[in-house]
Amino acid sequence: MKILFVSAEVAPFAKTGGLGDVGAALPRALRAAGHDVRIVLPCYRRILEGNYRLRMLFPPITLSVGPARLSFETLEATLPGSDVPVYLVRCPRLYDRPNIYTGDGDEHLRFAQLNWAALRIAQQLGFAPDIVHANDWQTGLLPLMLKTVFAWDRLFENTRTVLTIHNIGHQGSFPASAIGDVGLGMVASSFHQEQLAAGRMSFMLTGILYANAITTVSPTYAREIQTPEHGVGLDGFLRARRDVLFGVLNGIDETEWSPETDRHLPHRYSVDDMTGKAANKDALLTELRLPKRPGVPLIGMVTRLAWQKGLDLCFEALPALFMQRDVQLVVLGSGEPKYEAFFGELARRLPNRVRFINRFSEPLAHLIEAGSDMFLMPSRYEPCGLNQMYSLAYGTPPIVHRTGGLADTVSQWNPTTGEGNGFVFDHFDARGLKWALGAAVDAYRAGRGWSRLVQNGMRAKLGWSHRVPEYEHLYKAIASR
Ligand code: ADP
Repeated sequence: MKILFVSAEVAPFAKTGGLGDVGAALPRALRAAGHDVRIVLPCYRRILEGNYRLRMLFPPITLSVGPARLSFETLEATLPGSDVPVYLVRCPRLYDRPNIYTGDGDEHLRFAQLNWAALRIAQQLGFAPDIVHANDWQTGLLPLMLKTVFAWDRLFENTRTVLTIHNIGHQGSFPASAIGDVGLGMVASSFHQEQLAAGRMSFMLTGILYANAITTVSPTYAREIQTPEHGVGLDGFLRARRDVLFGVLNGIDETEWSPETDRHLPHRYSVDDMTGKAANKDALLTELRLPKRPGVPLIGMVTRLAWQKGLDLCFEALPALFMQRDVQLVVLGSGEPKYEAFFGELARRLPNRVRFINRFSEPLAHLIEAGSDMFLMPSRYEPCGLNQMYSLAYGTPPIVHRTGGLADTVSQWNPTTGEGNGFVFDHFDARGLKWALGAAVDAYRAGRGWSRLVQNGMRAKLGWSHRVPEYEHLYKAIASR
């Protein structure tokens, strides 16, 4: 099939979180299954500063977008590890900024331009996609554009749209005047009228209303977002479209995340020979300048320091854990000041036991997954979550809250039956987290069964190749409608 995949993040070009990983891994896996996939991504400043081979595909195309006249060039790159073309929308006026996302007054225009450009590039190439695969709010206007302002073009006659919701918490909600700014004033009547009357418009809602199919990144999250508790105001609209709403779990990109081949690790290992894992722990502790203390478990965390990630529970649970049990902790992450202050203070107070690395580091993220004994991810909500899957694959049992994709991938360890691959607490409170942390540390110390627990995780089938058939099935189902 011909698939035009449009995303605000595609690793390694642009990534702030899981969307970047999926934006690369899913197209790569679809390509490996024989599909003609093309990616469209904004050409952020960091891409031009990076070491990529880019070639100019088209000279500038000028679009009238509302009151603005916006020119963009199309540069072509290749997705590493594949021959998937990546079309970069080079529009310095919108994308030549230090960050991928901004709080700037033209954020709506920055991503509307991505939607316009994606379809203009397809036209210029004469590429007639069977599927336009949109991702999150930044691409939420694509289904409506195809049904309205691009409907005249026979090129898109058989094109169907899929919108994947990676996180319903970010909806691209703007004042209603944004509709005119993004050049869709003539189809304003197609936007949700009640919302418009209240003076707002939302990219995500527009996508939900017009996509031929909606997916989200785990079966549990697909159910959760249809409830008022997790739907962030869109649950009613999602319930109305539940016939075309599917949960498809994300996968791991095994070309990037496998302990057997990981280029970031000083020592590789596998479920059959775990000696490299211990050597990685040594290397990690050395790099962190933490003392090596045999028998003392090292807990790892790699995360955006955001409300979603459930870090508020750590305020109470971690100091209590350090009082009660002998453990070490490494946290890699950046984000909200109150969490940065908390982990910074914890590391100052417990210099032999805690390290806080307050930045984004891909190599260190890999070493923490490999070198830690267990991985902490107490997310308040989690659409899918990749880090718990990386930890499973790296033999680092995850400690998680039972929510979203965490509930679909991590099951409670039962030493009696030898089943389970991690530690799962049901109630989102500090007591729940304390229980799970205590259970994990005690199981580690008891030794008995720990290697079985580790193997259960490492043997799970988490790669993208296991997920691609679900997307193929969905694409085919909507294509034939
Ligand atoms: P989310 O998309 O909500 O951030 P996920 O678990 O799905 O959560 O994906 C997070 C991705 O971002 C993982 O690949 C993780 O390793 C990476 N990541 C997050 N923070 C950092 C950091 N400080 N350094 C390196 N990688 C990070």
